[in-house]
Amino acid sequence: MYTLIDGKKTAAEIRQEIRREVEDLRKEGKKVPHLAAVLVGHDGASETYVAAKERACHEVGFDSTVLRLDEDITQEELLDHVQRINEDPAIDGLIVQLPLPQHLDEQKVIETIRPEKDVDGFHPVNVGRMTIGLPAFISATPAGILELLRRYRVETSGRHCVVIGRSNIVGKPMSILLARKDEPGNCTVTLCHSRTRDLASFTRQADIIIAALGKPRFLTGGMVGEGVTVIDVGITRLPSDKTRSGWKLVGDVDFDSVAPKSSFITPVPGGVGPMTIVSLLRNTLLAARKEIYP
Ligand code: NAD
Repeated sequence: MYTLIDGKKTAAEIRQEIRREVEDLRKEGKKVPHLAAVLVGHDGASETYVAAKERACHEVGFDSTVLRLDEDITQEELLDHVQRINEDPAIDGLIVQLPLPQHLDEQKVIETIRPEKDVDGFHPVNVGRMTIGLPAFISATPAGILELLRRYRVETSGRHCVVIGRSNIVGKPMSILLARKDEPGNCTVTLCHSRTRDLASFTRQADIIIAALGKPRFLTGGMVGEGVTVIDVGITRLPSDKTRSGWKLVGDVDFDSVAPKSSFITPVPGGVGPMTIVSLLRNTLLAARKEIYP
């Protein structure tokens, strides 16, 4: 029998914990954390994500500011806005919602954010510090996965973890974090990607699988061994005639065939997804308390 890793419940618990910490700050007469989000243009998915982040801030008692900028803003103007927020002592954390319109240089924008305010953990300074084990802002999805492994007491030390996908926001940082000399961590990690030959030969040997490739129901029961822990990061919207919205969210794991063989498994929706925003809140709290960069 497997244990379902309930991200929705865990995220609600963490929001409650953060809310209490904010109340304590208020009682001590200290400033509450303040997250600023920059949104360029009118991409539907980006609007939804920013609205969800704003709502989450209000729920835990953070201040939040959303800076909405024109689709055709120039690179210089955007960098000026970022610089101004960098200099604003009232703002603790700054995120620029990605993707940006084509004419803007995302990497340049990320590198303009001060590492001390980079609560998305995308700045090369934070990525570098994470890699060598220094305090750093860890990007929200990998941080959320670590927290789920921690709270469900999934044993990682000495285990073989197979990460599928090598993106900068999920797969690559996940592989580094689980190999670190830390808890959770101390795994032997195999990082698989689109050029990996015979992927199933790796996944069958895995104690832990992190599936982050964005291919619906890719990982099936025949590809995993008995007792595996499976973390499903994938989110794909597929059309559905059973939902009112007309679509449903599907993960990278074929839950029905994989769950019976697993010891722990995350569902989609309700697994990794809800943890991502709370990890961003946690990072903003750390930024406000200057815990990463004292
Ligand atoms: P990406 O498209 O940037 O990267 C996908 C990776 O998968 C690539 O490294 C590629 O090499 C690898 N890949 C593709 N096909 C493969 C195959 N057949 N075999 C092995 N590897 C293969 O994706 P991403 O941004 O890391 O996102 C991955 C998935 O996770 C998407 O579905 C995305 O929506 C989801 N996601 C969810 C959250 C969340 O909060 N739950 C956050 C970020 C991303």
